[in-house]
Amino acid sequence: MKAIGKFILLEPEEFDSWLKLQRKTSRAIKLVQLHHTYIPAYSHFKGDNHFALCEAMERAHLERGFAEIAQNFTTFPDGKIMVCRSMDTIPAGVKGANTNGICIENVGNFDRGKDVMTEAQRSVILMMTKSLLAHFGLVASDQSVIYHHWYDLNAGKRIKVEGTGVTKSCPGTNFFGGNTVADFNAHLLPLLT
Ligand SMILES: [Zn+2]
Repeated sequence: MKAIGKFILLEPEEFDSWLKLQRKTSRAIKLVQLHHTYIPAYSHFKGDNHFALCEAMERAHLERGFAEIAQNFTTFPDGKIMVCRSMDTIPAGVKGANTNGICIENVGNFDRGKDVMTEAQRSVILMMTKSLLAHFGLVASDQSVIYHHWYDLNAGKRIKVEGTGVTKSCPGTNFFGGNTVADFNAHLLPLLT
C-alpha cells in the first residue's frame, strides 16, 4: 500500500482487507460500473506511473467540471488498484447509474483490435467486482454489474435494445469477449458466480 494525497495504491491481495476496514457507506450501493479509460491506454502505462496517470485523469475531469476524479477505483495492467474517490461520494461514471453505483475505471482501450488485457488486470477486475458485490450484499447479474455501453448518454437511461440510443463502446467491444448485455451474460457473469 502506498498513498499520495487521497490516492491509495493497493496490491491486488490488499484489496479485501482494505475493503473490510471501510465503514458503512453513507449511501446505498446497488451496482458496480465497469469502464475502460480508453485514454490512458496501455501505451501510457510505464509500470511505475500509477499516481501520475490518476493525477492526469483528475486534471482532465476537473476541466470537465467534475469536483474530483470521476471514478471510485482504477485498475492497471499490472493488477494494481488505485482508490480514487471515496465510496461515500457518488461517482461521475454513467449518467443514470451513479447515485447507487461504484465506478471502476480499467486503464486500457479494450475495443476490438486495441489493447489485449493482461492476465493480471483480468484477474483483478474479477476479484474486485466479486469482493464489492459480496461487501454490499449484491448478487451478480446484469443489474448489479453494468457496462457504460448499456446506457444512452443523452437520456441517461438504460437502452432496451442493443444498437439503439447514443452509446459509448465503453468498457470496450472486446472487454471480456464483448460489451453487450448478451456478451456480459455469456462471458463475464459466469466468472463472477
Ligand atoms: Zn465508461
